[in-house]
Amino acid sequence: MSDQPAFAAYHDGAWKPLPECLVPINTHALQYGTGCFEGIRGYWDGQRLQLLFLKEHFQRLRRSAAALLMQAPDLETLCAIAIELVQRNRPRTNVYIRPALYKKGTSLGPVMVNVPDGYMCYMIPLGDYLDTNKGLQVCVSSWRRLADNSIPTRTKALGGYLNSALAKSEAVLNGYDEAIFLNDRGQVCEGSAENIFIVRDGALHTPDRTADILEGITRRAVIELAQDFGIPVHERPIARTELYVADEVFLVGTGCQVSWVKSIDRRPIGGGVKGPITARIQQAYEAAVYGRDPQRAHWLTPVEYPSC
Ligand code: PMP
Repeated sequence: MSDQPAFAAYHDGAWKPLPECLVPINTHALQYGTGCFEGIRGYWDGQRLQLLFLKEHFQRLRRSAAALLMQAPDLETLCAIAIELVQRNRPRTNVYIRPALYKKGTSLGPVMVNVPDGYMCYMIPLGDYLDTNKGLQVCVSSWRRLADNSIPTRTKALGGYLNSALAKSEAVLNGYDEAIFLNDRGQVCEGSAENIFIVRDGALHTPDRTADILEGITRRAVIELAQDFGIPVHERPIARTELYVADEVFLVGTGCQVSWVKSIDRRPIGGGVKGPITARIQQAYEAAVYGRDPQRAHWLTPVEYPSC
């Protein structure tokens, strides 16, 4: 247990200390995984906190909600709650914000129609989710990525994360840092909570948006950086063994940022050292998220802390 004071959190219209934000055990979302969520990072640059891709995350939450027959608050309200969350807690470290829309009714049975929606938004301090510099040892999972036509992978559906949990747990139990999913066509898909890029002959390749991936916001940012650097980017089906012969492989996501992969299924990638394209993208991404790249200032929403 932490001896830090509990952060304030938003729960269905009220602000409360996080441990007091409770739901009944028969809550629909708890029983059936009915809901969708986001993960947003805030970076503390020593002087102020800036939220990364705030609007983009809430746009995706609203699109997830629409696909899942749920009613999300409007974009302005979602952004305002997240900003107020930070202002109330005044963190002076990097943070991770978790907004979630969930079925808060308590009716029996999985039908979502006429079951009321709830909304929560809380934050925790967060450094690195994966060690971005160590070089990850990853495996191809024995679990297949769920098909978009089973649980829409384009949404960040709560229940869909059981698939990620199985793959990540298997990887950790087997001594790996992370798992790479293949989709039900046997093509490379994504990590348990990351999109994947491989480098072959100086170009970036990543599974396209019909490969059962989450349409990652970091993925899009990395494509933008690569294109600005004149590095060709190909969104296309990727075969499993392309992983083993790639010059470089890295994972991207809000949590893992840009993390380089050292080996896959115990095969060293690029001689087991970080490759030049990975290093360049990683540096550029880090500069942007800490507000050191004026060209990417639009990625960030600074949060002012009003004087008490
Ligand atoms: N794929 C999955 C399954 C994820 O959970 C995440 C994390 N949100 C990502 C990819 C990366 O997405 P983003 O860059 O938007 O965080």
